[in-house]
Amino acid sequence: MRARTALLLASAVPAVLTAAAAALEAGCWELAVSRHEIRLSPRPRPGCPDCKGEGGWWSEGPYPGGEICWCWDRPTHRLRLLPVRDPWPDEPPF
Ligand SMILES: [Zn+2]
Repeated sequence: MRARTALLLASAVPAVLTAAAAALEAGCWELAVSRHEIRLSPRPRPGCPDCKGEGGWWSEGPYPGGEICWCWDRPTHRLRLLPVRDPWPDEPPF
């Protein structure tokens, strides 16, 4: 029973994360998930009246530079994932 539940969760989590990533990439946030953290990074707003979704203004030439638009200048949110403690440390892995 426990193995079936774990298998069901393992198959459901990527589908949920894929759906969430697709939903957030369409907006103004980017979701990145790794085994160490979940990170929400700001993206330029597609409907921004100032930068028109480009995220800023860049110049080229001998003195390249740029300016980030106000719609992209937001903090990144990180949630650190702690390692899972082994519930059966004295049993062999297989
Ligand atoms: Zn903008």
